[in-house]
Amino acid sequence: MNKKLFNLWFSNLSDMAEKKSECICPSCPSFVKGKEPVGYCFHGKSKVIKVEKGCICMTCPIHTENKYRHGYYCTKGSEKQINKN
Ligand code: SF4
Ligand code: SF4
Repeated sequence: MNKKLFNLWFSNLSDMAEKKSECICPSCPSFVKGKEPVGYCFHGKSKVIKVEKGCICMTCPIHTENKYRHGYYCTKGSEKQINKN
């Protein structure tokens, strides 16, 4: 892997780690604990969350920082996936 590719890979990895740690999904009424990573706005749908009982994404700093427009990423897919539909 060349240096440019390595830096790109590493920055993506850091972004993912950051998203995971700042994500407030575990405090959401719809959240169901599982082994999967949170940050559904980035990773896409959850395998364990199936019922929408409210979404607190609008109050998440990541949502504001990235000017996201949607919510319920755990049931509807990532911001990118929703925007494609
Ligand atoms: S916007 Fe929602 S899914 Fe994305 S990090 Fe924040 S709480 Fe988690
Ligand atoms: S994506 Fe929204 S609805 Fe799903 S767990 Fe996170 S805050 Fe709750």
